[in-house]
Amino acid sequence: MKIGIASGKGGTGKTTLAVNLSVYLQEKHPVILLDCDVEEPNAHLFLKPTFSEEQPVFVKNPQVNREKCDYCGKCSEVCAFGALTVLKSKILFYPHLCHSCGSCAYFCPNKAIEEVDRELGIIQKGSALNIEFTHGILNVGEAMAVSVINEVKKSQGVDQITVIDIPPGTSCPVVASLRDIDFCIIVTEPTPFGLNDMGLLVQLLQKMEIPSAVVINRWDLGDTGVERFCQNEKIPVLVKIPFDKEFARLNAEGGNLIEKIPWFRDSIQELWAGVKGLEKL
Ligand code: SF4
Ligand code: SF4
Repeated sequence: MKIGIASGKGGTGKTTLAVNLSVYLQEKHPVILLDCDVEEPNAHLFLKPTFSEEQPVFVKNPQVNREKCDYCGKCSEVCAFGALTVLKSKILFYPHLCHSCGSCAYFCPNKAIEEVDRELGIIQKGSALNIEFTHGILNVGEAMAVSVINEVKKSQGVDQITVIDIPPGTSCPVVASLRDIDFCIIVTEPTPFGLNDMGLLVQLLQKMEIPSAVVINRWDLGDTGVERFCQNEKIPVLVKIPFDKEFARLNAEGGNLIEKIPWFRDSIQELWAGVKGLEKL
């Protein structure tokens, strides 16, 4: 089973939930935890895994052989992303717009384009407790998070439970992270911002036909808009987590919390019972 932990907006506590759900589940079964938030991965700060493997992630970019090129402009015409501009005797290439589709090389009439590797980021793999952990780190200034996310997702399990920390928002990295998952837990907070961004995520999940349920974090600090939305949309609320100063303090120190805060363990247990209950429907 592949479970995504997502939030329309950042700062709702989804990574805390992803890590602690993994720690809870590994007590009975081996778990795989993937941090797909490659622009700002931080699950490792809470899980504290020992890393044993690191590999670079490359993408293919075009490289023009000036001796073969006659500046016909065909490559620029076929590039749907505006990553190439052909001038009279020069070609301008914008690597951050390139989606590595290979069209320019394929359609170049003079075979003047070679595809070369460019490093985008790295993947690190490790473990903690009974959890296999993988995250990706996108190089600073790079825009193509999806290629790194796709590499992270190669570590997802077949028989084990895979918990995936999905990046915040609803853009391409979120779609890539959600692809092929079985169930999504939406972590939100009961504020107008939380409600707005959760609404966008719900629309995306409905389009991708991924079943979902909601966790309301710091439920006692906001309004009832999220609960009313869930009622109207028939989205189950699995658990409501209260604000607690001690919880916030311990969370800021890193590490997992279910071993330190008994009521939080109960919340995670209730959450998992809710997911299992929905799975049987
Ligand atoms: S299609 Fe090939 S030959 Fe034409 S401008 Fe591009 S690289 Fe040069
Ligand atoms: S590989 Fe695709 S996206 Fe990149 S420059 Fe060539 S045509 Fe454009």
